[in-house]
Amino acid sequence: MKSQDVRNKFLEFFKQKEHLIVPSSSMVVKNDPTLMFVNSGMAPFKEYFLGNAKPKHNRIADTQKCLRVSGKHNDLEEVGYDTYHHTLFEMLGNWSFGNYFKEEAIAWSWELLTEVYGIDKDILYVTVFEGSDDDDQLEMDKEAFGIWKKFIDEERILKGNKKDNFWEMGDQGPCGPCSEIHVDIRSKEEKQKVDGASLVNQDHPQVVEIWNLVFMQYNRKANGSLEALPNRHIDTGMGFERLCMVLQGVQSNYDTDVFTPLIREIETITNNSYGKSSDVDVAIRVISDHVRAVAFSIADGQLPSNTGAGYVIRRILRRAIRYGFTFLNQKEPFIYKLVDTLGKQMGEAFPEIKTQERLIENVIKEEEHSFLRTLDQGLLLLDKVIEDSTNKIIEGSKAFELYDTYGFPLDLTQLIAREKGYSVDEEGFSQGMQKQKERSRSASASETSDWIVIQDNQTEDFVGYDQLTAEVRLTRYRKVVSKKDGDQYQLVFNSTPFYPEGGGQVGDRGYIETANGGVVYITDTKKENNVIIHITKHLPQHLEQSFKAVVNEEFRRLSASNHTATHLLHQALRTILGTHVEQKGSLVKPKSLRFDFSHFSKVGDEQLQEIEDFVNARIRENLPLVEHRNIPMQKALDEGAIALFGEKYGDNVRTIRFGQSMELCGGTHVAQTGDIWYFKIKSESAIAAGIRRIEAITNIAVGDYFETVEKQFEAVKAVLKNANEPVKAVQNLQEENVELKKQIEALLKDKAKNLKTELKSELREINGIQFLAKKIDLDPASIKDLCFDLGHQHDNLFLLFGAENNGKALLSCYISKELVASKSLNAGVIVRELGKYIQGGGGGQPFFATAGGKNIEGIDSALKEVVNLISK
Ligand code: ATP
Ligand code: MG
Repeated sequence: MKSQDVRNKFLEFFKQKEHLIVPSSSMVVKNDPTLMFVNSGMAPFKEYFLGNAKPKHNRIADTQKCLRVSGKHNDLEEVGYDTYHHTLFEMLGNWSFGNYFKEEAIAWSWELLTEVYGIDKDILYVTVFEGSDDDDQLEMDKEAFGIWKKFIDEERILKGNKKDNFWEMGDQGPCGPCSEIHVDIRSKEEKQKVDGASLVNQDHPQVVEIWNLVFMQYNRKANGSLEALPNRHIDTGMGFERLCMVLQGVQSNYDTDVFTPLIREIETITNNSYGKSSDVDVAIRVISDHVRAVAFSIADGQLPSNTGAGYVIRRILRRAIRYGFTFLNQKEPFIYKLVDTLGKQMGEAFPEIKTQERLIENVIKEEEHSFLRTLDQGLLLLDKVIEDSTNKIIEGSKAFELYDTYGFPLDLTQLIAREKGYSVDEEGFSQGMQKQKERSRSASASETSDWIVIQDNQTEDFVGYDQLTAEVRLTRYRKVVSKKDGDQYQLVFNSTPFYPEGGGQVGDRGYIETANGGVVYITDTKKENNVIIHITKHLPQHLEQSFKAVVNEEFRRLSASNHTATHLLHQALRTILGTHVEQKGSLVKPKSLRFDFSHFSKVGDEQLQEIEDFVNARIRENLPLVEHRNIPMQKALDEGAIALFGEKYGDNVRTIRFGQSMELCGGTHVAQTGDIWYFKIKSESAIAAGIRRIEAITNIAVGDYFETVEKQFEAVKAVLKNANEPVKAVQNLQEENVELKKQIEALLKDKAKNLKTELKSELREINGIQFLAKKIDLDPASIKDLCFDLGHQHDNLFLLFGAENNGKALLSCYISKELVASKSLNAGVIVRELGKYIQGGGGGQPFFATAGGKNIEGIDSALKEVVNLISK
């Protein structure tokens, strides 16, 4: 069965069981501080399980792009070495939100696997939770056991421990027992030798878990205790690639048609074959896996970068580059060439990979280029470390530096070292690693306590589009203690005018006032899993009374000005540069705005001017805001609204229109474009291959900007004695300057000529040496020229010049080559000797050397001393 059919059959099956089929969410997580990437099918539905939002249907199924490369699930180091863990994989899942429970979930999983897909029952094992002694509230999942018994022989139902069979969302929140389904795809002979049951959950490559059914029935509180959930849920996840492996009768995920086209392409491009040597195979698996992770992440809006999620992606790509470099002998970029094949393979199910193909290729290629350069530098450094080492051991701290700055993991350093007969101090490397981990842990550690409920009111209205103040009541709050930010409280109200950070726009600031006039400042507003959280340093008094919530009006007004300007800028870019321009990120603050977009070359000055003019023309038109708060997504798109890829939208959306600019947007905007006052671009730059960034300002920031520019200009004019035509005045000065420079050069040449004549006449002969020691007033370069000039005209010359240079003493010594040879004189040795008189030192070659020092007074003594030296 083709992988495409495997996927469709799954979705079709659950559609028939009355599930709503939804598309995969973006892999890049926004709005959740605990997660960078979606790492399981349930992650996009977290807010439903937490009860913060209502699902649009209580049965949903989908295939979700997942990435397991950081945090709780990190499979990165396995990938390539085993045959069934990937960084990016698809998780097929079905969900019940307070609807069906174990009975249906188990029966349907069985029906799908054995009847629809026709998997032989005799290769399946299932597990149920055995209960836990140390968590004494947890009993064995007898319920699941009873249901499974209806479908499968009892000896194939295995009991599993808390680690494998009890699922928890995190330290807190929903949790419950789970049942896993495992397959045993070994050959008959092997099965006879070793019983399959003994290999379940033992990391055997042919006895693997394919599906996990989670039965969410408890809530874990911050103090560790459990309470029963009022609504029980089902969350299942099946590894798509593993399922394909079973259905296609192969022994490795990489032998399914999900991977074979990529592997064939790598073989062709790099001229290697898969299946001949283990190093090459690992490299090919790593690259075919990683290119998927990186390409999908770029498509979902997360580009490789130096921090956070972007850094995780960069590291994945670098791992692929490194394996290609080391084992496939690829010294030039090549991974980007696989994007085309990937598009053909996955484009039907995930169109984003096709529509952004060019961007993905460009970004990967550029990353490959720059990392290959870094690899080269790292190799040079490693050569030097090897050269400097006296005991054939590479110091741990050096190995760590290679890892930390050049992206060389330990195994690469070891590999290269081994080739040259060296080893690496692993202990020292681990210490460096450990220290770094501790540093980052202590910087980010924070502790969040349970929510304290003040009023049991689950709804929370956002009223901030229409008003900046509101009567509000606290529904719950919690305390967060962190080293970085100190103690903070997070407040949730029944209603709020505060805009939470989102869509690029920063969260509102302001205050809440109690009935008796006490004020607590709100330092930021954020949205976490669909809840608006107000952050403050202090808890207000009289928590159960109502408060007046007041948003900082100017902060909001200026943010809105920049947000609307961002929309107009987006429109200007698409009009002037073309509709290939796609928004790739934005940051809207009161003082400035930033807009990142896809475009393949620098935006020239003229175009920038045109863009600025376009936006300002829209501002002068004073276009009114036309807002629709709640229109069906499809209707909005039909009307021409621009949606951002990778953004999560509901069925109904909010649209923001100013003239021809129309976007899906949740942000706050001005009532009419005239309120922006003026738009000024401050810079245009590249942030990655194919991604440009424009930074701009509006409103009073433009006033401040022009004021500063004007002040500077006034100051320049004042220096120019208020010339009527300042530009002309500066040009005159420049011309005059050029003329004066010429004159000075001529004068200096004359001076040098005169000096030369003078010095020649002062040469004395001592012991057959033409000798002169003298203090002169010239700069170091001219002294050197003079020495060599005189040297051409005289044999057996010995010169020592002293000079003051920028408040320091300088000695320059010249000795003709004949003298160096015949009398074994050495200018380097002599200046070093004389250096003590000027409290300094120096050196150089036998025929010319210089010394510098602090003591100008000592020059004369040095000049005298050299006479003694020569006379000897
Ligand atoms: P394993 O023990 O094999 O790592 P898991 O317990 O981490 O699996 P779950 O978190 O329960 O897996 O995820 C549900 C399903 O997703 C698994 O049954 C498996 O089929 C699939 N899966 C999990 N991790 C990966 C991965 N890294 N690559 C491919 N498929 C995976
Ligand atoms: Mg795992």
